[in-house]
Amino acid sequence: MYTVTNPATGELVEQIENATDEQVDAAIGRVHNAFAAWRRRSATDRAKIVLRAAELFAERADELAEIMTLEMGKRINEGRGEVGVVVDIFTYYGQHGPDLVADQPMTVRGGEAVIQKTPLGALLGVMPWNFPCYQVARFVAPNLVLGNTILLKHASICPRSALAIEQILHDAGVPEDVYVNTFAASRQVPAILADPRIQGVSLTGSEAAGISVAAEAGRNLKKAVLELGGSDPLIVLDTADMDETVARTATARMRNCGQSCNAPKRMIVLADIYDEFVEKLTRRVADFFKPGDPRDPDTKLPPLASTAARDEVAAQVAQAIEQGATLRAGGHVVDGPGAYLEATVLTDVTPEMNAYYEEIFGPVVLVFKAETEEQAIEIANDSPFGLGASVWGTDPARLRRVAEQIESGMVYLNSAGGSQADLPFGGIKRSGMGRELGPAGIEEFMNQKSIRL
Ligand code: NAP
Repeated sequence: MYTVTNPATGELVEQIENATDEQVDAAIGRVHNAFAAWRRRSATDRAKIVLRAAELFAERADELAEIMTLEMGKRINEGRGEVGVVVDIFTYYGQHGPDLVADQPMTVRGGEAVIQKTPLGALLGVMPWNFPCYQVARFVAPNLVLGNTILLKHASICPRSALAIEQILHDAGVPEDVYVNTFAASRQVPAILADPRIQGVSLTGSEAAGISVAAEAGRNLKKAVLELGGSDPLIVLDTADMDETVARTATARMRNCGQSCNAPKRMIVLADIYDEFVEKLTRRVADFFKPGDPRDPDTKLPPLASTAARDEVAAQVAQAIEQGATLRAGGHVVDGPGAYLEATVLTDVTPEMNAYYEEIFGPVVLVFKAETEEQAIEIANDSPFGLGASVWGTDPARLRRVAEQIESGMVYLNSAGGSQADLPFGGIKRSGMGRELGPAGIEEFMNQKSIRL
């Protein structure tokens, strides 16, 4: 069942039945049959439609932001900001996509060759609720320009976002069978992957979902791109302005109520500034204690996406404290019907505690003390995840040196939790495989065919 429950109030808003197996089968047939004509259109033609979609996303930003606020509790301004990033992604692929998929001539030993860049066919997208529009955009914009067709299964708590996105794409000129939303249940995903009409899958979501989808894709020899969880380190080496560093790092962690894959979940601070950092961060985080209506632009603490998500995070915090971590701020579930949890700071988390290696997907920050730069890097890399990271400090050469030693797919210097349309996004280790965005993002479901002339 696809269910909209307002996480700020607990009110049940709408329920939609899952698609039947017959409906899923028909949807696969539509995207499969649409491929032949879609791939024949020129990349420039497809890119024009993608650029039109960018305009429509911009026009409907308020409507989309309201839907996301209702479905998963995102603060309304953050929702508008998310749609801004979506517009940027569609614009980037609309403008650069045709060049990125153009034939690439090569001089090879003994003669000439050309790499022809062609689409694979119908793809399945399985998407999460935390950025209902942005996650879809990362997968859909490049693949539409390339010429693939798409069957999209969104998270079961955001069916209205799913339908609004589908409507925008169709209004922009994407043929109705080239992009099809399905309200399939996750248990129907294996059958979709086993279907010979589907050529690959992109999943953004949890490790558990990634394992299941990768296993099914492997069993059927289908390409899979997996954008999974993270527990990104943020290393503070030194700072010219502690108040500013604390303000910016705290904001990066609390964005989207802490429910971002690449949020800085583990802050690692060098010993000589650790006490001051923790003290100021603790005070700063108290700003995020007062629950508010996510529709109100002044609200600092919105609800988590659901009471189930909130309870899971609260249980992780309780377990960390029970295992010996120090609670510096927050930690309490807020009484009332909404899915609120105070922003939380934990220190003294050790490798013996579950919290050390887990992803905590909510407004919780762990702070670690490192005696040296080397120890900071060691702590940063002591994680099953390898999505993003950030390094903060005043010496560019030192920042770069540390960044180069971090095991992750992305590192930002003096900023955290970022993503931009022209820069590849993705992780290593248990954070997944493959890349989205930038030139790399359009190559994942591409046949780079070598033609020896
Ligand atoms: P989730 O529970 O894994 O759900 C994501 C999607 O996968 C939903 O559409 C879900 O469907 C589906 N799904 C769940 N289990 C499945 C299975 N066994 N087989 C097939 N599909 C399945 O994740 P979430 O809670 O929505 O998202 C949070 C996670 O996503 C966090 O770990 C976060 O770090 C990660 N994330 C990663 C990135 C990145 O770029 N690396 C970006 C954003 C989020 P239902 O809703 O119907 O269950």
